[in-house]
Amino acid sequence: MTGFGGRVLVTGGAGFIGSHLCRRLLAEGYGVLCVDDFSTGARSNVEPLLANPRFELLEHDVARPLHVDVDTIYNLACPASPPQYQKDPIQTMKTSVLGAFNMLGLAKRLGVPILQTSTSEVYGDPLQHPQMEAYWGNVNPIGLRSCYDEGKRCAETIFFDYHREHGVQIKVVRLFNTFGPRMLIDDGRVVSNFVIQALQNLPITIYGDGSQTRSFCYVDDTLEGIVRMMATGPDVTGPVNIGNPQEFTVLELAQKVIAMTGSASEIRHFPLPSDDPTRRKPDISQAAALLDWAPKVPLAEGLGQTIDYFETLLARQGLVTAPRKVRSAG
Ligand code: NAD
Ligand code: UDP
Ligand code: UDP
Repeated sequence: MTGFGGRVLVTGGAGFIGSHLCRRLLAEGYGVLCVDDFSTGARSNVEPLLANPRFELLEHDVARPLHVDVDTIYNLACPASPPQYQKDPIQTMKTSVLGAFNMLGLAKRLGVPILQTSTSEVYGDPLQHPQMEAYWGNVNPIGLRSCYDEGKRCAETIFFDYHREHGVQIKVVRLFNTFGPRMLIDDGRVVSNFVIQALQNLPITIYGDGSQTRSFCYVDDTLEGIVRMMATGPDVTGPVNIGNPQEFTVLELAQKVIAMTGSASEIRHFPLPSDDPTRRKPDISQAAALLDWAPKVPLAEGLGQTIDYFETLLARQGLVTAPRKVRSAG
């Protein structure tokens, strides 16, 4: 069954953002083909959707050709957490680069639009602040993060060359740090790490002195930006930044999480990973102008949803130890 809105391919659909996207598309009446190799996603993220006759799940590596019939493609497949994408850096690069070729080859054959979830990592450790789309970035091509950063940059190049050479309708969004429910417990990114540690009264692991900044966008807001981008006319290719311009230090994030969970966790410092960007904040004027989009969910509200999610998940495993407290760190 395709659904009244057609059949949509979501690669990486069993991952954090992808599983939210699959749910949203199903709710809007689309048929969804979720393709995932389950390397950093989980079958459990989409298992409840299997009861819906408009949902199909296919285990497949996008670095290999894929021959399916769909009306739209969202290409999300790629590990996004630094420890995860550094586990198998060669596969990470293959996913970004060969995955881009294959999904663009598919889009070209079918004559359908394709959206690429690129990343703020294309700006590297930015020398311009906040980051605008016109900024070319400051990226180490040979470091531990390069498999992801350069993979995503190369994927953008392939997208724009398929657009110019073959007329493929492309949509490129550069997502900034996104968080929310359905990140995996062992994901390793900062928000899920801190929440999971705080809920168990375990030390909060701050890398470096915690003065580095990030801008955290709740997943519902990110999703709204992605979906609006897909709905734009054929002349809109991007790249468009999607992120929350409210900037926090990692230490501030830790303090907020501790306050909101009423945790007894102490803060412990660990070495800063190499090439860890010192500052990150999106300029979202393009998203405002082209998509009439801006994030709506404040950090405290998004954190509240995320804490509730992990509290339930950890409780099921008998792991929550922190006392409950009214959430008030907003
Ligand atoms: P995630 O790791 O939770 O999800 C990625 C999904 O892709 C997983 O289900 C994984 O199993 C799947 N996958 C990985 N390699 C694959 C392959 N070769 N073939 C098929 N499936 C594969 O990450 P996420 O946070 O949901 O990120 C989704 C997309 O958004 C990624 O492309 C990521 O680069 C991008 N992005 C995310 C963020 C963020 O903060 N979450 C920021 C910038 C960009
Ligand atoms: N491809 C795919 N599905 C398709 C069409 C193409 O996976 O429906 C793959 C194809 O195998 C190739 C890549 O996409 O590896 C790029 O295809 P394209 O036709 O652009 O180029 P070429 O086949 O000439 O390399
Ligand atoms: N970080 C941290 N403790 C953790 C995980 C991450 O201090 O347990 C820091 C990390 O060094 C970086 C920031 O938090 O400065 C965001 O890290 P994340 O892995 O979430 O994503 P990034 O934006 O670096 O890709």
